[in-house]
Amino acid sequence: MRNKTKKIFEKLDSIIPGGVNSPARACKGLLPFPIIVKKGKGDLIVDLDGNSYIDYCGSWGALIHGHANPTIVKAVQKRAALGTSFGITTPLEGELARLIIDCFPSVEKMRFVSSGTEATMSAVRLARGYTGKDIVIKFVGNYHGHADFFLVQAGSSVSQLSQSSSAGIPNDIVKHTFSLPYNDVKAFLHFVNDKNIKDRLAAVIVEPIAGNIGVVPASQDFLNTLRSETKRLKALLIFDEVITGFRVGLGGAQALYKITPDLTCFGKIIGGGFPAAGFGGRTDIMDTLAPLGTVYQAGTLSGNPVAMEAGIQAITLAQKNGFYQSLEKKTEIITKPLQALFKKRNIPACVQQVGSMFTLFFGVKEVRHFEDTKKFDLDQFKRFFVYLFDRGIYIPPSQYEAWFVSSGHTKQHLEKTHDLILQFFDEYS
Ligand SMILES: *Cc1c(COP(=O)(O)O)cnc(C)c1O
Repeated sequence: MRNKTKKIFEKLDSIIPGGVNSPARACKGLLPFPIIVKKGKGDLIVDLDGNSYIDYCGSWGALIHGHANPTIVKAVQKRAALGTSFGITTPLEGELARLIIDCFPSVEKMRFVSSGTEATMSAVRLARGYTGKDIVIKFVGNYHGHADFFLVQAGSSVSQLSQSSSAGIPNDIVKHTFSLPYNDVKAFLHFVNDKNIKDRLAAVIVEPIAGNIGVVPASQDFLNTLRSETKRLKALLIFDEVITGFRVGLGGAQALYKITPDLTCFGKIIGGGFPAAGFGGRTDIMDTLAPLGTVYQAGTLSGNPVAMEAGIQAITLAQKNGFYQSLEKKTEIITKPLQALFKKRNIPACVQQVGSMFTLFFGVKEVRHFEDTKKFDLDQFKRFFVYLFDRGIYIPPSQYEAWFVSSGHTKQHLEKTHDLILQFFDEYS
């Protein structure tokens, strides 16, 4: 029963476009109206009608310690009582920066902002300011927030003018951004070595483990190529680790791949469930930012003390011995038996996992780049989403998203989820 939710949603819908403040929350095409949350605790969320759901969205990966983690909540309450915002520096910014810098050898200095969108947007501005060049390369299916110049259509080539992928963005704004196929070394090499590109390239930005077409890790060869070519062309390599930073391990994806990017973007987990994000890198690059340098960047709530406190607590908790190993083991309660099942019964589906993030893809045996998403069985995904939702499990409401397991997930709930998924495949394959 979702009567109360329905009533409140209708009210919201009349005063907020689509009833939501970020489009994916609408559960469009999956549910007649979305879930509306009353509260959360550990791995559970409770809706307005009192239905509870085991949550695998985890605020899109931000909540690696689950909902209302007692350590974080206590510290945040104490901090809030001391003042919630000053627009003046507090020592907490230094504490969180120190924690991040100690985990990421590529980062010598940090700057904090309030959202991942701001982090990537500012990192690109910095890269352009530092190199004195304009062209930026991103990859199809990678998401870097919604700054104008990132919203560019796929398949741009040197000879084509880039087209924006959202209304409200003049093509002029995206004309320096090019979107190339992910994990395609040949296409990348061909593109950057064009005479019209190679001297004008400011930066390459990439999700080293894509999380926004579902979980799709980059190949080592692909990332190595991005590293060596950007170095050669005196352009900056930006790792967007807004999801993977403190998710796939303390050192992020760059530690797993042993690659040193010039700049790294953070978000989600570093805010501990509050709006904090940031970007960092080598001192000579970071010092190009105002007030030291000529690249302007600012924010009223940047480095907000309550958000910094939450981030400090979140990272400190993640530094406990065995934290990431234990999360991965928990995640495998769901993923391992599925892989075995798909193989045994030759079901056209697959699971792609890195640590505690994974996606169950329908209709494909492997996803390497955006092209593969054309084979997704979206009808089956919908059936699956609704099947789980009706039985008290909330997964990210799109086939193109990652599921996140947190330390708040109990073995019992993971096993229940696993049982229901197997039951689904018994009934529908
Ligand atoms: C979520 C996300 C962003 C944008 O962060 P917001 O806080 O939503 O603005 C950027 N890059 C990646 C890889 C993300 O997953």
